[in-house]
Amino acid sequence: MIEFSLTAEQTELQLKARKFAEEEIASKAAEYDRSGDFPIDILKKAFAAGLMNSHIPKEYGGPGRTTLECAILAEELTAACSGIATAIEANSLAQAPLIIAGSDDQKNRFLKPMTEKLSFAAYAVTEPDAGSDVSRVKTEARRVRDGKWAINGLKWWITNGGVASWYFVLAKTEKGPTAFIVPADTAGIIKGPKEINMGQRCSNTVRLQFEDAVVDEKNMVGNEGDGFSICMKTFNLTRPLVAAAAVGVARCALSLALAYSKTRKAFDRKLISYQGISFKLADMSTEIEAARLLAWRAASLHDNGIDNTKAAAMAKVFAADTAMKAATEAVQIFGGYGYTNEMPVEKLMRDAKIYQIYEGTCEIQRSIIAGQLLRGR
Ligand SMILES: Cc1cc2nc3c(=O)[nH]c(=O)nc-3n(C[C@H](O)[C@H](O)[C@H](O)COP(=O)(O)OP(=O)(O)OC[C@H]3O[C@@H](n4cnc5c(N)ncnc54)[C@H](O)[C@@H]3O)c2cc1C
Repeated sequence: MIEFSLTAEQTELQLKARKFAEEEIASKAAEYDRSGDFPIDILKKAFAAGLMNSHIPKEYGGPGRTTLECAILAEELTAACSGIATAIEANSLAQAPLIIAGSDDQKNRFLKPMTEKLSFAAYAVTEPDAGSDVSRVKTEARRVRDGKWAINGLKWWITNGGVASWYFVLAKTEKGPTAFIVPADTAGIIKGPKEINMGQRCSNTVRLQFEDAVVDEKNMVGNEGDGFSICMKTFNLTRPLVAAAAVGVARCALSLALAYSKTRKAFDRKLISYQGISFKLADMSTEIEAARLLAWRAASLHDNGIDNTKAAAMAKVFAADTAMKAATEAVQIFGGYGYTNEMPVEKLMRDAKIYQIYEGTCEIQRSIIAGQLLRGR
């Protein structure tokens, strides 16, 4: 029989994260959405509570959580505020390629310090002309002298870019896309201002210009030309987590819409008594359960070393669409109030949209699924 229940340890983690989200995040969500400030006070508490850098292996000082545990954590934090949760979780995207393909020396130099002191890292792959199509990256890495590479190019929309102490950077060499770890204090890196985004406004997104930023060859991740495959393997780890985070947004939308529809009256009846409203809630609830199962399955396959490319894409696209739909329906159920920033569902709708875009758009996830079907997988 398929086991659908969490273990005692997983449940404990879920409750711990839920308590943290309710006590430390929820009440500050609107304030950080308005200010767009990086939520450093909450990050300090999340770090102290052991809720950051979750998948850094134990041998490098981290908690070594499984992908499924990270998914459970992501949903709980995001259900309180996906902007603050993204600030808590964004390190993971930069760390994942090192966990997958980094050397022991790189893990000791770049992952271990992140478990000792609150610090940040960023995954710098996207460029103005290379988002979905990563093969179009123009950033170049040129061998300049023995054991040194100079990086030149522009990276765009980099989460944590303004606060990171190192970047995972994809750059072209003669042998193709190649991955490097670039310390943020390297000469020749110019950070742009924080972007003003539609949602998740306290997450730090900037552009990064590399002008002859010189790095040591010992910072190359994997071999020259391995960069594209490292990035794709990274997504098999991170997409189930993004899917789980989207489930958190959808769950929050359902909870707010359900509570509102139980109290708001129209034509002398509570909104929930109308089938037109209660069916929306029923669909939201069903889709949330389905999205969570897809996310947990994709995470679990990854934990068991089974190829989850298709499962991760399915989880990501379904959960992203579920979050967007749930948030939109929540606004609809709130009526005019839903459209104003007096009510949290307006923020949810803005926050939800990004799940259909980053870490591979919904169209790209569908292309991946179709590609896998064509290969008979
Ligand atoms: C807030 C935010 C944070 C981000 N954080 C990071 C980060 O930390 N690191 C990082 O490297 N990047 C990051 N990104 C970049 C993000 O991953 C890209 O925006 C995303 O991959 C899409 O790329 P693009 O914007 O260039 O869109 P494009 O690739 O130009 O796509 C535009 C549209 O065309 C569609 N499209 C493209 N190709 C196809 C196709 N073959 N078939 C059908 N439709 C297609 C897309 O789905 C989309 O709808 C972030 C972006 C945002 C907005």
